[in-house]
Amino acid sequence: MSDIDQENAFADQVYETDEPILYEVADGIATITMNRPKYNNAQNNQMTYALDEAYYKAASDDDVKVIILRGSGKHFSAGHDIGTPGRDHHLSQDRKSLWYDHANKPGAEFQYVKEQEAYLGMCRRWRDLPKPTIAMVQGACIAGGLMLAWTCDMIIASDDAFFSDPVVRMGIPGVEYFAHPYELNPRIAKEFLFLGERMNAERAYQMGMVNRIFPRADLEQETYDIAKRIAAMPRLGLALTKQAINHVEDLQGKRNGMEAVFGMHHFAHAHNSLISDDKLGGFDAKAMADSQREKK
Ligand code: ZN
Repeated sequence: MSDIDQENAFADQVYETDEPILYEVADGIATITMNRPKYNNAQNNQMTYALDEAYYKAASDDDVKVIILRGSGKHFSAGHDIGTPGRDHHLSQDRKSLWYDHANKPGAEFQYVKEQEAYLGMCRRWRDLPKPTIAMVQGACIAGGLMLAWTCDMIIASDDAFFSDPVVRMGIPGVEYFAHPYELNPRIAKEFLFLGERMNAERAYQMGMVNRIFPRADLEQETYDIAKRIAAMPRLGLALTKQAINHVEDLQGKRNGMEAVFGMHHFAHAHNSLISDDKLGGFDAKAMADSQREKK
C-alpha cells in the first residue's frame, strides 16, 4: 500500500469517537477510562494506541502515584475489536516498538507483526510500568479485556463482573498475553480455557485473580479509597515492590512461558488461515457474543 493509499484508508475509517481513551489526574491518581461504551469498550487500534499514550503520560507525571484503568458504560471490555465499524486492524499505526509495519504484509506475517507490537509488546510493557495499576472491573471482562485487567497489579471487581477467554472456540490456545497459569492454578486455567465459559467475580476472587469484590454501586468509591491508601506510600517503595514481584514471577517462567505460547497462538492463526482463509476460525463478534450468552 502506498502512502497515499494509506492516507485514504485512514480518511475512510469510521470512528464513533475521537476520544477512545479519557484521562484525568486527581489526588495522586490517574484515571484512564476506555471510552467506547457503545461497543462495550472493544479495543480497536485507535483505542490501544491511545491507551499506550495514556500509560506513558501517567508514568512520567510526578503527580501520579497510582493508575486506575476502567471502562465506561455497562462493561469493562468485551475484548479486541473483531467487528465494530471502528475496527482498524488493517491500518498502519504510528508504531511504539521497533517492529515494522504489519499492514502491507502477506500471510501469517500480518498478524504476527501486529500482535508482537500491539498485543504482546504493549501488554508486557504496561505490566512493568513502574507505578501501581488497578483494574476496576464491572460487567464483562472478556479475552482482550482480560489481558488489560491481567496487566494491572490489582483487580477490583463489582459483584456482577465476569471473566472469560473464549478463544479456544477459534482453535486458539488463549489470548496473546498468556498469563492464565499464573492468574489461575493450572487445573482451573485448563477448565477456564477448555470450556470458555464465564467465571463470575466470586470464583475469580476465590482463585486469587481478583483482589476485592464490592457491590456495583460501591465499586468506584471503594476502588478510589484503596488507590488513595496506596498513593500515600513512597513512590520508590512502590516501584521496587512491583519490580520485585514481577521479577520473581518472571523467574518462575511467566515471561518465557508467554513467549513460547505466543508461537503456538500464531501457529493457530496460520492454521485457521490455511483451512478457512480466516485467522479467527470463522468467528466474528456476533458468534463470540452468542457463545458467551449460552452459559453463565
Ligand atoms: Zn492473536
